[in-house]
Amino acid sequence: MASNGNRDTARERYETREYDVLIVGAGGAGLRAAVAATENGLSVGIVTKSLLGKAHTVMAEGGIAASLGNVDPADGWQTHFMDTMKSGKFINNWRTAEIFAKEAPDRVYELEQWGALFNRTPEGKISQRPFGAHTYRRLCHVGDRTGLELIRTMQEKVLATDAEVYMETTITKLLKSGDRVVGALAYTRENGKFIHFKAKAVVMATGGWGRIFKVTSNSWEGTGDGVVLAYDAGAELVDMEMMQFHPTGMVWPPGVRGLLVTEGVRGEGGLLRNSEGDRYMENYDPERMELSSRDVVARANYTEVQEGRGSPHGGVYLDITHLGYDGIMNKLPTMHEQFLKLADIDISKEPMEVFPTVHYTMGGIKTDPETGASNVPGLFAAGEVAGGLHGANRLGGNSLSDLLVFGRRAGEGASAYVKESVHSSDIAEGEVLTEIGRVLEPLKKQGEGESPYLMQQELQEAMMEHANLMRTGDSLKEGLGKVLGLKDRLANMKVQGSRLFNPGWHTAQDIRYLIQISEIIIRTALERTERRGAQWRLDFDGPDDELGRVNFIVKKDEQGEVGIQKREIPPMPEHLASLFEDKVVDMAGGEKRGAESQF
Ligand SMILES: Cc1cc2nc3c(=O)[nH]c(=O)nc-3n(C[C@H](O)[C@H](O)[C@H](O)COP(=O)(O)OP(=O)(O)OC[C@H]3O[C@@H](n4cnc5c(N)ncnc54)[C@H](O)[C@@H]3O)c2cc1C
Repeated sequence: MASNGNRDTARERYETREYDVLIVGAGGAGLRAAVAATENGLSVGIVTKSLLGKAHTVMAEGGIAASLGNVDPADGWQTHFMDTMKSGKFINNWRTAEIFAKEAPDRVYELEQWGALFNRTPEGKISQRPFGAHTYRRLCHVGDRTGLELIRTMQEKVLATDAEVYMETTITKLLKSGDRVVGALAYTRENGKFIHFKAKAVVMATGGWGRIFKVTSNSWEGTGDGVVLAYDAGAELVDMEMMQFHPTGMVWPPGVRGLLVTEGVRGEGGLLRNSEGDRYMENYDPERMELSSRDVVARANYTEVQEGRGSPHGGVYLDITHLGYDGIMNKLPTMHEQFLKLADIDISKEPMEVFPTVHYTMGGIKTDPETGASNVPGLFAAGEVAGGLHGANRLGGNSLSDLLVFGRRAGEGASAYVKESVHSSDIAEGEVLTEIGRVLEPLKKQGEGESPYLMQQELQEAMMEHANLMRTGDSLKEGLGKVLGLKDRLANMKVQGSRLFNPGWHTAQDIRYLIQISEIIIRTALERTERRGAQWRLDFDGPDDELGRVNFIVKKDEQGEVGIQKREIPPMPEHLASLFEDKVVDMAGGEKRGAESQF
């Protein structure tokens, strides 16, 4: 169990807490990892920079993908696996995708047993709705509030364990002894007190980094802390160039630009039209139309607006009026409320205006599919902060099942590691004090200094301009120059006020992550000289066969710079490769959809 202690030092006071497993993040991945570790009889600390019950997971709307076959009995893990790989343009880790597709149904049923109340079919089974590029109706959902139900259920489950939760507490550094991660340093957001967490293993579950862009569906929490903390500790990252632009974010009023319009709208039959009234998806993916993969629909929406066929506020029209008021209130109540309250639009009577918004990060910490282990001993990762499952494009609904499948595996993996390890989690006190000093620097700076808010704004604008959903080498290079300029200015950051309730000070921590991730994304986007999924280089004609066989791996080099290497993807074993032959698809009894759109 946890042991608490207090220490005084000449320079700074901090507390020490000790756990077998420290989990950073209380979204779906972190909470599922916590359940697994407590079931192994280990002491667990969970740290979240917001409140328990918040996190991005709570915002998830459309549903959780798992091949239960409740509505389309022909569905099975094989088809889910194939859809995931095809959508990821085959740079996914195939073993990760195989585990995922096989285990997702168990995790959904487990969630149901733990109390989640899903929408039902007339026969009383968990209902499943269609979503883009899923061959079958596969998304289990709770209206359009699936994430809320997931978090509510997981939260109750975790609160019934001995895990201890630290809310509004931000981790700033992973602490190492030799090459092992043995804890982390944190500060409390309310009053700036420092805590040294000692831990035999750390599970990183900090979510994504949409906040590097100005227009995003992500909340303030999406600053990518975990991926940079892991990178600084020596972890390998994968597919960092792959950022998902969701095709449909709100465009009006300006204050809510980027807020998500769930893919559930298109899943329930929503139609996309341009200002000329055309269902333009016919020109981009005539087979799958509005239910094409997200990368294709996002580019289509973007192109329609660029070519002058946009709506008055710079979007395209998404029409769900055919469902009528009752249908919408049953399937999409949040969307109805969101548009009525924020834009004064009744979506049962009028179409919505939508445009792509930065939504999800396919790349992240490279992990072992079986255990969630990174290449750094003692460091595990799960959820959106981890990379590998989704390749070049994530399918809608695949994140929530990812959180549960690999949250559980990371919790199990960390537990096995803890049980086998004999090392101590002590480190030299000087390391803790050095980090505390670094975190306090912006508050102590004398004279003139840079505002973290203005730097954040500059960064977000630079990323919008230079690393958007269609990219060129020249523009990326220009963007890199701006990002590196901001990096140089970090040391000069200054924050007014004290440590008490000081959002400026919190932003000063975040901006370091945002800048580092932006640099990594631009550098890897420069290396992937092709069009593949979310990485769409306008200065190249299409996919490159050679690059289709590699991942770009990022690791901090000995000079502290971004090191990038191409790493060959191992060939898919026969039992998986053979699934892509037509006969196997037909054996599953399914209607095979048309070829992937090359747009
Ligand atoms: C609006 C919206 C709708 C979505 N809808 C769907 C959907 O229908 N289906 C689907 O599959 N996916 C959906 N997604 C994606 C999905 O919700 C996320 O990918 C997923 O919830 C991420 O879960 P996570 O556990 O990895 O991280 P999160 O839920 O983002 O949680 C991250 C946690 O880490 C904590 N944290 C971060 N940094 C630190 C730090 N330095 N110190 C301490 N704590 C830290 C945060 O406070 C938080 O508790 C949606 C996303 C959004 C934004």
